[in-house]
Amino acid sequence: MDHPYYVAGSWVSDGEVLEVRSPFRDNLVGRTFRPPERVVEEAIQKAGAAFDETRALPTYRKTNLLKRIASGVEERRNSFAELIAKEAGKPIRLAHGEVNRAIRTFTEAAEECSRLYGEILPLDVGEAAEGKVGFTRYFPVGPVLAITPFNFPLNLVAHKLAPAIAAGCSVILKPSSETPLTALLLAKVIDEAGALRGSLSVLPLEGGRAMELVGRTDFKKVTFTGSAAVGWRLKERAWDKKVTLELGGNAAVILHSDWSEWDRAVDRIVFGGYAYSGQVCISVQRIFVQEEIYNRFVDFFVEKVKGLRAGDPLSESTDIGPMITAGEASRVESWVDEAVEGGARVLVGGKRDGIFYHPTVLTGARSGMKVVDEEVFGPVTALFPYQHFEDAIRAVNDSKFGLQAGVYTRDMRLARKAFQELEVGGVIVGDIPTFRVDRMPYGGVKNSGIGREGLRYAIREMCEPRLLVLAQ
Ligand code: NAP
Repeated sequence: MDHPYYVAGSWVSDGEVLEVRSPFRDNLVGRTFRPPERVVEEAIQKAGAAFDETRALPTYRKTNLLKRIASGVEERRNSFAELIAKEAGKPIRLAHGEVNRAIRTFTEAAEECSRLYGEILPLDVGEAAEGKVGFTRYFPVGPVLAITPFNFPLNLVAHKLAPAIAAGCSVILKPSSETPLTALLLAKVIDEAGALRGSLSVLPLEGGRAMELVGRTDFKKVTFTGSAAVGWRLKERAWDKKVTLELGGNAAVILHSDWSEWDRAVDRIVFGGYAYSGQVCISVQRIFVQEEIYNRFVDFFVEKVKGLRAGDPLSESTDIGPMITAGEASRVESWVDEAVEGGARVLVGGKRDGIFYHPTVLTGARSGMKVVDEEVFGPVTALFPYQHFEDAIRAVNDSKFGLQAGVYTRDMRLARKAFQELEVGGVIVGDIPTFRVDRMPYGGVKNSGIGREGLRYAIREMCEPRLLVLAQ
């Protein structure tokens, strides 16, 4: 039941107990510990010392280590999936999907590791540089501080650790206090795979203490995935280092009348809106449907949403699990209530059952309501009819967030217009904004963050290019 945390190659049980409980029925999943100051200091010092070794690792050793980690995750596939289902309350089918992604993430990091190309620069474009040639090469930036959220306790941790290893950085990870045990199991796999001693620590600190670390000059890079509220505050403190922020959103999908494959589109939009109870940064929250097909869409969509089965995350037949905390379920309830008081109509759902919030579809919501303007991060979607495609683009852009958008159209002209004009990090034509594979550059604009993840991009964000000029 006790899960020691990982400090630079050693397992430690020192500190105040942190009980990790399943959101479903509040069962105890396990206990870990809050590392005391002294231990945190030791981890920081060791990360600094280990960087001298990690920065010098040849590519083939990093590649082999990353491949061994991918195999280690594969070998423990079921343990990971069960642990995710227990501590995060994620339905087991989705938890298995997350494990598959993590295996892919480490495999891809192993591949990208050998593709960290620089450039050759013909500098002699003017007399001053005659006879000179330049080269750039990527060097690891230094020790990294990584902070991750609860909703993908394995894969979002993998998105920090895999690029750090590939880049040659040492790293201290602070996982979510709701879901630290999955990160600790991953640390075990990495340890067994033979990572350099000292190159990794996983410290289940509380959020506020992580904020204190952000300002430390020992770290050369802070990479954060989580809410916008925390992310932007953190960036203020990290003024002297590289920062990646992967934050939230209120993602939108546009369903245009020329899209004929209805069944599949509706199934995908239901998945995007309600998978893991909407606790996904690119969950579908706002749905814009061309008015010619709006009424038909509404009937079809609501029927499908009614068919979602709530239940035990460990059951293969569960579509909808609990919210991460009762407080989150109450927050979603209050946001929907506020929308209804302001004139929105509930077509299905709109109810809370303890820690479960029923999958909810709203019409008549508008700007100024939290369910439209803010990130709901719950199983709630709002439907809007539109007349012209331009209206839909304007409405999608009427948001302080910009992570990804989905656009269902067969008209290449409209698809290109969407690509040109939507203010987001990614436009997915023919699918939902929730589509992500880890090869993509992934990240947001506006309040949704800065920087990109996806192995190729995340590795570069953990490096600095260095220039070499050679004179004749
Ligand atoms: P959160 O409350 O912002 O927490 C994220 C992490 O930050 C946790 O480890 C948390 O620690 C820590 N934290 C909290 N307060 C802090 C502080 N003052 N200083 C430093 N760290 C602090 O987010 P969450 O509820 O776990 O996750 C949901 C959010 O993550 C949503 O907004 C979602 O959109 C976003 N997200 C974004 C992406 C993406 O790739 N763009 C992916 C997944 C999730 P504690 O657990 O100890 O509080």
